[in-house]
Amino acid sequence: PGTLYIVATPIGNLEDLSLRAGKVLERVAVIAAEDTRHSGRLLQHLGISKPLIALHDHNERDKARGVLERLLDGADVALVSDAGTPLISDPGYVLVREARAAGIRVSPIPGPCALVAGLSAAGLPTDRFLFAGFLPAKRAGRQAVLDELRKEVATLVFYESPHRIMNTVADIMDVMGPQRDIVLGRELTKTFETFYSGPAADVHAALHEDTHGSRGEFVVMVRGAEKAEAGLMAGALDVDRLLTLLMPELP
Ligand code: SAM
Repeated sequence: PGTLYIVATPIGNLEDLSLRAGKVLERVAVIAAEDTRHSGRLLQHLGISKPLIALHDHNERDKARGVLERLLDGADVALVSDAGTPLISDPGYVLVREARAAGIRVSPIPGPCALVAGLSAAGLPTDRFLFAGFLPAKRAGRQAVLDELRKEVATLVFYESPHRIMNTVADIMDVMGPQRDIVLGRELTKTFETFYSGPAADVHAALHEDTHGSRGEFVVMVRGAEKAEAGLMAGALDVDRLLTLLMPELP
């Protein structure tokens, strides 16, 4: 059988396409794309003309079968999404799962990914992070998810669209407190790349003031909860207990 290549493409800056990604896109027989018109433009820019198969969230199950048949026939296939790394809040999971189940080689061609780009420059701890994709579109759902994550000590990472960013930051203030540190990475790798950082309340005010503030795409990063907030107060109580126990022994 052929190989299924999972190819990362730029998140806004065409120069971020890796040399290897370019070579693989040139070499494969077929390219499976989230949006064939969108990816067609990228390929045109690269001077590559290839048969494209549309593979998006709504038809992935059906289309995956066709792609698998091509792979089993011996054709190499590349999977791309509209931007960044496929499967990261993008289609491809069903295809990759089925390909692996069929014994097909699946090989990543790594490259741009908004969440990694954001984290790498945000100045928040990166030793532990929790990526939670897009928050629910409605306020109640969004607040419920934020509440679930309120005590999480790992850095939190979300994706957000321009028309919901103000509401999301307001919900972070409501649920996690106006003093919780957050960092927004906007339009990463593009001309108007901007970082907003500080307590959620300050970032909300800065966004409000910036007339371009809510334009573009966002990576939302939230500093994890303090250990004390995370319910480790119990640890402090243990120290007290320990001291009480030790007291008789101390000089
Ligand atoms: N697969 C992509 C990746 O690897 O990052 C993510 C796809 S997801 C459908 C699109 C979301 O990613 C946007 O709504 C935004 O939150 C984030 N995103 C994509 N490009 C970005 C950029 N240049 N700057 C900031 N966020 C970006």
